[in-house]
Formats: sequence, structure tokens, C-alpha cells
Amino acid sequence: MTSSRLRILSLLSCLTLSLSAGTAAAATAKTPVLVIHGGAGVNRASLSAQDEAEARAALERALHAGHQVLAAGRPALDAVAAAISVMEDAPQFNAGRGAVFTHDGRNELDASIMDGASGRAGAVAGVHRVKNPIQLARAVMEKSRHVMLVGDGAEAFAQEQGVTLVDPSYFRTDKRWQQLQKALKEEAGGQAHADIETARHFGTVGALALDAQGHLAAGTSTGGMTNKRYGRVGDSPIIGAGTYANDQCAVSGTGWGEYYIRAVAAYDICARVKYAGQSLQQAAEEVIDRQIPAAGGDGGAIALAADGSMAFPFNTDGMYRGWIGADGVAHVAIFRDGIGE
Ligand code: ASP
Repeated sequence: MTSSRLRILSLLSCLTLSLSAGTAAAATAKTPVLVIHGGAGVNRASLSAQDEAEARAALERALHAGHQVLAAGRPALDAVAAAISVMEDAPQFNAGRGAVFTHDGRNELDASIMDGASGRAGAVAGVHRVKNPIQLARAVMEKSRHVMLVGDGAEAFAQEQGVTLVDPSYFRTDKRWQQLQKALKEEAGGQAHADIETARHFGTVGALALDAQGHLAAGTSTGGMTNKRYGRVGDSPIIGAGTYANDQCAVSGTGWGEYYIRAVAAYDICARVKYAGQSLQQAAEEVIDRQIPAAGGDGGAIALAADGSMAFPFNTDGMYRGWIGADGVAHVAIFRDGIGE
């Protein structure tokens, strides 16, 4: 066993210990936990000290926003939506404001949310004017008879439901615009897609929550991949691929979406826990560190189980990630120097 595995195992056992202490004190109530990610595309070489500080601050804000909800005894779904909305509003991540650009120079957003207790889910894809796509995904789940709405229809539904719409220019940031210009230049220079590093700015955001009732929820929101075209949709809004939750396990992914869709990655992690008796850590590592790279993809994921154990596998340079438990202390890490590696 590698020393990094040992570190995560001891972290998890400490966490389980502290969670079970809380559980003993309040026989039925669970100790709430929130786990988040801000994408697995972060690269040490290109991350300035200022960018790092801003990203860490945004992750902490998201953790506290979700924790407040859980501490007030509200459902996991509310915490997931609250944490993701904060990250969608932060320009540091590839979701909401700060989303990457399509080939045509637009920002096209996807999101999904799932309630582990009821199995209900909602998703939106290809929206251009919805300030917080995660809130629209939730409205689809709760206020429509459908699971997924796309494009203009999704925006018409947003308008009907009073979900905030903004001018498309709201999503534009100069950093993402420059990334598109670089990707276009590389493409024009004949580089194959797989070699275009700049097309892979995995900055998708996700959140998982376990509430005091012991219910899990999962959500994911993204701008997709730089230079995407033809209405491309990745894994993030696809239930089972980028987002999944049942009563035992919740997962949100970030990475090269085509591979996550083919692997049905989020569902596969939870299915391994449910049907194959694997621990959450084993299941998450098997899918993210072995199956997806073996197929040619890359990325990461966060996973949370109903017993409060969590996993943060990634096979890229880094993954923005964090968790917060009963004590309300936000834990944040980016590279292989903190949580879960
Ligand atoms: N998974 C996202 C997609 O393929 C990208 C990301 O994780 O940033 O659309």
C-alpha cells in the first residue's frame, strides 16, 4: 500500500470516528458533511499565487454556504444547490460566470442534480442565459415532469419558473477568451484534439451532501470543454455519467466528459459499492484511476457515502476540492498535498 493510500485511510478512519461519536450523541441524527470540487484541470505550472488564493477562497465560501444549510437542519439538496451556486458565481471555475467558450465564442452551460433518497433528478444542457444552471436543474426536477431540458426550451422553462436570466455577456471572462484563442490557433496548426492541452480546462464544479436525516444529494455544473462545437454535451448534466446519488452513495465527476459518459462513471462507482461490496475509496479509485485512463480519458471525482466516508480520486495534476463536517472547519486542497491523495 502506498504511503498516500495510508494517509487517506487514516484520514477516513479519523473522520469515521468523529462522525460516529456525533452519531452516538444523537441516536438518529447523522453528522452532516459537504464535499465539493472545482474541477480536475488545474495545473501547477500555470497557477499563479493570486489565482490559487482566489480559488481557495471561493472553495471556502462554497463550503461555508453549504454547511450553513446543513447546520440549520435543511436537506442535502439545498446544501448542494447553495454550494454550487457560489462556485457558479465565482469566475475561477468553468461553470456559470467563468465558463469556457465554445468554438463559436459562446458560453454554453450544463448542470444536473440528484436526490439520493427519492431517486429524483433534474438536468439542463446548452443554456446561454441562466445565471445559475444548478437552480434550473433543480426546478426541472421539482417543477416539471421531465429529467432533462436543453437549449431554448430550458430557457423558456427558466423564465416561466422565475429562475434568474442574464445577458450572455455576463459569463464572459478574458482568461477563458484567451484560452479559446489558443485552442483555435493550435487547431489551425493541425494539432490533434487529444494533444490540445488548452481544450481541457476541467473546471467543472460539483457538490455532495449528507444531511442530518442521513440523506445524500449530488450536483454538478459546467461550461463543458473549450472549443466544443455542434451542441456538444459532456457528462456533467447526464445522470449516471457526471452526477449520481442513491441512498448509500453520491458522486460528482470532472474530466474529459466523453470518457465519463462511456464509463457511466458516477453510477459505476455507486454500483460497485452497492453490488460488488467495494469500499467507496476502492470503487472511486477503480473507475477514476484505472478504467477511465485505460480508455484514454482523464479527470477526477468526489464521492460521499451515507456513513460519512469520502473519496477524492484524480489522475490529473490537481483537483480543486474540499470538505466540511460538523465542526464547520473548511478543508481545501488543490494538488497532491492535502485531502484524499
Ligand atoms: N466534464 C466536463 C465536460 O466534459 C468538463 C470538466 O470537468 O471541466 O463537459
